[in-house]
Amino acid sequence: MVDGLLQSLGVPASAYTQGTHPVHTPIDGSQIAKVALESKAQVTAKIDTAAKAFHSWRDVPAPRRGELVRLFGEVLRAHKAQLGELVSVEAGKITQEGLGEVQEMIDICDFAVGLSRQLYGLTIASERPGHHMRETWQPLGVVGVISAFNFPVAVWSWNTALALVCGNAVVWKPSEKTPLTALACQALFEKALKAFGQAPEGLCQLVIGDREAGEALVDDSRVALVSATGSTRMGREVGPRVAARFGRTILELGGNNAMILAPSADLNLAIRGILFSAVGTAGQRCTTLRRVIVHSSVKEEVLTRLKTAYSKVRIGDPRKDNLVGPLIDKASFDAMQGALAKARDEGGSVFGGERQLQDQYPDAYYVAPAIVEMPGQTEVVRHETFAPILYVLSYDEFEDALRLNNEVPQGLSSCIFTTDLREAERFQSASGSDCGIANVNIGTSGAEIGGAFGGEKETGGGRESGSDAWKAYMRRQTNTVNYSRELPLAQGIVFD
Ligand code: NAD
Repeated sequence: MVDGLLQSLGVPASAYTQGTHPVHTPIDGSQIAKVALESKAQVTAKIDTAAKAFHSWRDVPAPRRGELVRLFGEVLRAHKAQLGELVSVEAGKITQEGLGEVQEMIDICDFAVGLSRQLYGLTIASERPGHHMRETWQPLGVVGVISAFNFPVAVWSWNTALALVCGNAVVWKPSEKTPLTALACQALFEKALKAFGQAPEGLCQLVIGDREAGEALVDDSRVALVSATGSTRMGREVGPRVAARFGRTILELGGNNAMILAPSADLNLAIRGILFSAVGTAGQRCTTLRRVIVHSSVKEEVLTRLKTAYSKVRIGDPRKDNLVGPLIDKASFDAMQGALAKARDEGGSVFGGERQLQDQYPDAYYVAPAIVEMPGQTEVVRHETFAPILYVLSYDEFEDALRLNNEVPQGLSSCIFTTDLREAERFQSASGSDCGIANVNIGTSGAEIGGAFGGEKETGGGRESGSDAWKAYMRRQTNTVNYSRELPLAQGIVFD
């Protein structure tokens, strides 16, 4: 299923036929490749080379570093269709979403190329005569990227495009569930390196491995920044370990994203917004809509319309004309069924959620997306189940809706559908949504790369991608220069 694709992307057959770790496609559950998992010692050797590469790369002028990323963007443009298809095969995303993920890679490359000429610092007024102060941004070191299965290529590129223009080297450990797309990204990056011609060896490396390989990155003090995307469980382990050696982290962890659906909302927009955010990527986005907090006056209409829309959703092979592909694996299916059982125990009424296409795909896990009416924000609702379950809660007073939006441990994405300006502004105010993303009349998922992406509380607090997220990949330095013939001290201190 993948030979032709991988070859067209430049991945040698030896990389995906000779290991012991099986790779399955969620489309039909079949084994499509075998890869070798790297040991801790192999990871450490890669960090050695990356550290050496950093020492020369940091002195390359930033716009020249941007040229490498520009070339990578060109390679991605030329291979968008194949890489997008590989994302579909390995992660189960529908074709449009696979292509969209590669487009996000191209977009961040463009952003980073511009950024390579805009790593601006500040000039600061000095209190001393004949002095000036400035703030400069310096390269940081080796950046370790640990990524999740559900955005197997985009998350790496968000980090890598910025890290490279900022003068850093990168070592990437993708999810053990999606090593093939990672091998393809590495092969494509090597094409860009070849065209660039002068990058140091080992500037951008890939480690195929499991948690142990991730831990090698986490514990190595030469890895100045660990950017880790995945579950809150993973972040709880990674965060303190990196902090114990005073390393930096960008943590992009689980979400539990809500929509407040106000009585004034344009319901046509809202229903479409819910459908894309709740059902897209089979509910396996960190920004997937998991809770709708709907005003009681429109709840019945919304539920009826949603159930009709859910019944029409085409489920099946993500490469064909379907809207919902498979769950990643059986564990994910079991977690979904467990959450639905718990929701029923906690008073919920479940619509959908059943396994689909079992006869056709006995080893794959397709499900009907579920809508669950809940009597309140019970324990199961407060937990992220990485599957298409949409909990529906109702409210009468706007303040209650806001409270429900915020009363979960996670703080990634949120939105409100309303045409009431006061509600919209309140939602985005200091006492409004406590999430990293707060949208108006747009669903919770599908962010653009231009904004900083990330969330609060158990989502980890990290920001990556656009805006000034690049600053996390650099070392801030404050410089004071004395161009006078005196040596005055700050605060007027006399020390004679
Ligand atoms: P996961 O936590 O199981 O694995 C993520 C990565 O962490 C994998 O590469 C894994 O090998 C590695 N890992 C696990 N334990 C580790 C440890 N102790 N030390 C070092 N590395 C370790 O997550 P998953 O199932 O692949 O992805 C789904 C989760 O990711 C969901 O919770 C989702 O919300 C989250 N996610 C968050 C974002 C975001 O930007 N906030 C984006 C995508 C996914």
